Parts: sequence; C-alpha cells; structure tokens
Amino acid sequence: MALSLMLMLVALFVVAVIYCAKAAVLEFEHAADRDVLKVKGAYLNIIQRKDALAAEKQQLRDEADRIFEMYELTREVTATFDEKEAFAAFKAHVSRRLTLEDCRLVDDVPLDVDDPATFEAYRFFPLRAKQMVLGEVAYKGLAESDEEAFSVFAHQLALAFRRIRLYNEVESLAITDSLTRMNTRRHLAERFDEEFSRAQSRALPLSLLMIDVDHFKNINDQHGHLAGDAALREIARVIAYHIREIDIAGRYGGEEFCVILPDTDKQGALVVAERIRAAIAEEKVRAYDTVLNVTVSVGVATFPEDALQMDELLDKSDWALYRAKKSGRDRVVGFSIYTDRAGA
Ligand code: GH3
Ligand code: MG
Ligand code: MG
Repeated sequence: MALSLMLMLVALFVVAVIYCAKAAVLEFEHAADRDVLKVKGAYLNIIQRKDALAAEKQQLRDEADRIFEMYELTREVTATFDEKEAFAAFKAHVSRRLTLEDCRLVDDVPLDVDDPATFEAYRFFPLRAKQMVLGEVAYKGLAESDEEAFSVFAHQLALAFRRIRLYNEVESLAITDSLTRMNTRRHLAERFDEEFSRAQSRALPLSLLMIDVDHFKNINDQHGHLAGDAALREIARVIAYHIREIDIAGRYGGEEFCVILPDTDKQGALVVAERIRAAIAEEKVRAYDTVLNVTVSVGVATFPEDALQMDELLDKSDWALYRAKKSGRDRVVGFSIYTDRAGA
C-alpha cells in the first residue's frame, strides 16, 4: 500500500517535472520566435532603408548628371562671343543628348514659310532673358520625354545670348564716343598704334590730321551747349563722309578730332584735309532753330617725312594745327610747310 502510494507520488512528481519542462521549452520557443520576429523586422527595416538610400543615390546621381550637363552646355555656349558660334555649340550639345530631328535659329536659316508642311512641322522656342526676346529657336522631332531638358538648355542659350549682347554693348561703349558716334580717344590710340606699326614695317606713308573747331567756346556761349553738341555731331558726320573706309577718325578731345590716313603721303593728306575744311565751312549746321557757321583748322603731319615715331608725329600735327590757328583759323597747315591753304 505504502509502496503503491510512493509509486503514485513518484509518478505524479515525474508528470509535474515533465509538465514544467514542457512549459519551459514552450516559453523558450515563444521567446525565440519573438526574437526571430524582432530580428526579421529589423532586417526588413534595413532592407527598406537600403532601397530608400539606393533611390536617393540614384536621384542624386541624376541630379549630378543634370548639373554636369548644364555645366558642360554653359561652358560650350559661353566659350565664344559670337551668337552663331554659341548656337552651333548649343545645337551640337542637344543633338548629342536629346532625341531631336532638327533645330535652327529662325533668323539664321529662314524656314521656307511658303511651304506650310515644312513650316508647320517646326515648333518655336523664344529665347528670353530679362523679359527681352533675343531670338527664336525652331525645332522639330523632339521626343516628348526630352521637352523639359530642351527648354532648360534653350534657356541657357538665351542667357548666353544676353551675355554676348551685353559684352558687345560694353565694348562698343568703350570704343564709341556717345555724342559723335566716332571712335573714342582710347580706341583711336590703339588703332594708331596698329597702323603706325604697319606703316613702319611695310615702309608705307601714313598721315595724321588734327582738326579743331574754331572759336567753339563762342558757339557755346552764344547758342548754348546743346547747340554746341549738335555742331560737334554734324562736324563728325561731315568728317566721316569725306574719308575712305580704311581711314580712322575719332574724337580726340572736347572739340578736337583726329583722322589717321594709312598709305597716304603729305600731298594726299593735305587734299583730304582741305576737302574736310571746305565742306565744314560750307555746311549750314542746324542746331534746333539756329543755323551756325562753323569752321575748323587742321594740322597735318606725315610719316616718315615729318616724324619717324608716333609721339613725334602727333606733336608735329599738333604743331601744324597751332600754326593754322595762329595764322587766322579756317585753314589747313601741313607741318614744316606752313602754307595757308584756306580757300585753296
Ligand atoms: P580755338 O579757335 O582757339 O580753338 O577756340 P575755342 O573756343 O574752340 O577753344 P577753347 O579750347 O577755348 O574752347 C573749347 C570749348 O569747347 C570749351 C569747351 O567748353 C567746349 N567743349 C568741349 N567739349 C564739348 C562738348 O562735348 N560739348 C560742347 N557743347 N562743348 C564742348
Ligand atoms: Mg581745342
Ligand atoms: Mg577750338
């Protein structure tokens, strides 16, 4: 009896142990499952982040490609100060990068407007910068997916055009006198330098005319500065009219003009000077409601007969001008001759 009770107790104990062990194993299994789930979640997170990073990387790469392309295009179209060359660079670039059949500047190669089929095939992109239309690009056969890129590139071209126009304006301001539209003194000096070297190296004569308006102060005093300005513009126009294409005229100072006559000896220069003097003396300069009688005095000097150096030639033409003033004005005087040629 006691034995069977003991056996029962042992059996019970064994069952209890087995039950506890099983529960412990189950608990362990659950904990392990939870850990696995946690790790799995973390892993999925990492995968997701990796995908997001890859997408971001691709986006950055695309952006870098776009910026690089823009940089390349900008570099190519700004490598020149000529609009045709800038457009050629633009065209080469878009033809390389985009799907496009044709692209041209409207002014450059006029489209055949009489042929509607040709004309209608094109689309037009105005090149705008700072609210100004600087030109128009006609294009056809552009892939739809490339439209945005094309407009971005064309905008860069518009900026390049604006830069070129500004450069040309600044350059022309630097070389053109705003009142008379003649060369400025600085530009005249550069051209004188070039022409003098050319005359020296080729052993050709070169003459210089120094022209000064007579009693110009009186014109200002009697008729006002605006009338004086109008007279200067008119004198500049007459001078430009009486010289050759290869001659270079400029405004040397306030009411002084200078003309460089390449390949011209003293005799030839005196003839040109006299022609200018007579034309100005005969010209009725209209300044608003007044008609002015304006005369000029001209000094002439020639390389190589009067001077072998540039400065010396300038000094000698100035000296001849001084002589023209001294001897009565409204006349031409050649250096060292001092002949009164007024009315000759
Ligand atoms: P001369 O016959 O000896 O050359 O006498 P002039 O009165 O012409 O010479 P002067 O050098 O005494 O005077 C030149 C005048 O030219 C003085 C100046 O006010 C005027 N002048 C210089 N530049 C301009 C300009 O751009 N516009 C006007 N209206 N006058 C100018
Ligand atoms: Mg003067
Ligand atoms: Mg004067």
